[in-house]
Amino acid sequence: VWASCLSIIKDIVEWQHYKTWFEPIKPVSIKEKVLIIQVPSQFFYEYLEEHYVNLLAKTLKRELGKDARLEYRIMVDGGNNRNKPVTVDVAAHGYKSQSNNEMNFPLVINTPVVKNPFVIPGLKKMQIDPQLNPIYTFETYVEGDSNRVARRAGKTVAEKPGANSFNPLVIYGGVGLGKTHLAQAIGNEVKRLLPNKVVLYVSSEKFINQFVDHSRNNAVNDFIHFYQMIDVLIIDDVQFFNRAERSQDAFFAIFNHLHQSGKQLVLTSDKSPKDLEGVQERLLSRFRWGLSADIQMPDYETRIEILERKMKNDGLEMPKEVVKYIAYNINSNVRELEGALISLLAQSSLNRRDIDLDLAKKVLRNFVKSSSKEITIDTIQRMVCDYFEVPYDKLLQKTRKREIVQARQITMYLAKAFTKNSLKTIGEHFGGRDHTTVIHSCQTVKDLMDTDGVFRDNVLELQQKVQLAAM
Ligand code: ADP
Ligand code: MG
Repeated sequence: VWASCLSIIKDIVEWQHYKTWFEPIKPVSIKEKVLIIQVPSQFFYEYLEEHYVNLLAKTLKRELGKDARLEYRIMVDGGNNRNKPVTVDVAAHGYKSQSNNEMNFPLVINTPVVKNPFVIPGLKKMQIDPQLNPIYTFETYVEGDSNRVARRAGKTVAEKPGANSFNPLVIYGGVGLGKTHLAQAIGNEVKRLLPNKVVLYVSSEKFINQFVDHSRNNAVNDFIHFYQMIDVLIIDDVQFFNRAERSQDAFFAIFNHLHQSGKQLVLTSDKSPKDLEGVQERLLSRFRWGLSADIQMPDYETRIEILERKMKNDGLEMPKEVVKYIAYNINSNVRELEGALISLLAQSSLNRRDIDLDLAKKVLRNFVKSSSKEITIDTIQRMVCDYFEVPYDKLLQKTRKREIVQARQITMYLAKAFTKNSLKTIGEHFGGRDHTTVIHSCQTVKDLMDTDGVFRDNVLELQQKVQLAAM
C-alpha cells in the first residue's frame, strides 16, 4: 500500500522534497484501514503534518477507502537503538495515543479528538511521559544527617517548583548515595501534587545522545524547543556533560529559557559544581544561582533504618543483630548496603536456611574487603569514650571521678576480652598502669555486671559494638 502511495506522491511533489520528506518514511504495519508509518523525528512529523497532510490523506483514501487512517511512529533514539527502535505512537488524528513504556524520548503528543481525521489542531499543553520510576519517592527515602539538607530542599522544590530559591537545585555526592532516588522523588512528588506540570527526568547521557541525533537531522532547534516547554526538568549526572560542548550550548539555551520563565531545574552530579571539570564556566556559574546540597554516606543508625524500611516494604524479617551487622559493616554506599541485603536473602532462600548472624558473616565476606580486622586497644578506648562521652585523655590520666574510673575499667575488660594483648601491655596503654590494676578492673566489671543492671546493659552493648567492629 505504502509503495503505491509513494508512486502517486512521487509524481506530485518535487523530486528534492520527495527525497527529503518521503523516502525516509518507513511503513510499519497496516491493520484494517490503519497504516502506521515511522518517521525519523518529531520535527519530521510536524513538517509532514504541516505541509503534506492533505496529500497524504488523499492518497491514502484512494488506496484504502474513505475511512483510512494514518498513524505516525516517531523514531526516537535514532542511531543508538536501531535494533530496538524505541518508538512512540502518535495518533495524529485524534485517536488515542499508546505510549510505549520503554520509549526513550518522551515525545508523546495527545491531540484532542477531532471530527476530521486529517486535521490536526494546534498542539495544546504538551503531555509527556516524565520517565520516572514510581518506586523512588520521598516516602521511601530515609532521612538522616547525611542527606537532610538535600532532602528538605527537594521537598520544597517539589511543593513549589520554580517558585523557591533553590533553582537550580543541584544534588551532589558519591556513587550509590541516593542522588537519582532523590531527584526522581522530586519528580514523582510534583506529579502527585501538581499533575498538570510537565515533568521530565533525563540522564545527561541521554540528553547528549538525543542532541546528537537531532543535530544530525538538522533539528537542533526542535530539540531545544521541546525542552523549553518543560516545567520541571531533572537532569541526572551532569558530570557526563564533560566536554560535550555543543550539548552544553543547547543546555545553556534551555537552562536560560526555563530559569527566566520560572521553571524548575534539578540537577545531580557526582561532584560539587566547583569541582566539575569540562563543564563550561557560564553553566557552572548558573548552577550556583540556586542551592547545591551534598549527600553523604548515611550514618550507622540511618543505615539500620534504610535496611529496615526496605525489608518492611518487601514484607521481610530478620533478626535485629543481623541488620545491625550489615549496617555496621557496609559503609561504602547505600547501593552496596542493599546489595548485601539482597545477597543474604538470596543465600537464605537458596540454601533453605534461616537468616542468622553466621550466614550473614559468610555472605558479607564478599562485600567487606578487609574482613576480620584486628581490633586494637586504641580502637576500644575510643569506642568507650564515644559511648560514655568521656574525653579520651581523661581515660588515660589518673582521674578518680567515678564515671571515668568505670569507663576505664570497662575499657580494660574489653581490651582483655577482644585483643591478644598481655595484661602488662594493656596496663601500659592506660598511662603506664601495671598488670594488677588490669586484673582488678576486670574483676570489678564482672562483679558489677552481676549486681547492677544498668551497668550490665552498658557493658553488653559496648561488647556488641566491639564485636561488630572486630568482624
Ligand atoms: P546514586 O544516584 O547517588 O548513585 P541511587 O539514587 O541510585 O544513587 O541510590 C542507590 C540505591 O540506594 C537506590 O536503590 C536507592 O533507592 C537507595 N537509597 C539511597 N539513599 C537512600 C535513602 N536515604 N533511603 C532509602 N534508600 C536509599
Ligand atoms: Mg544515579
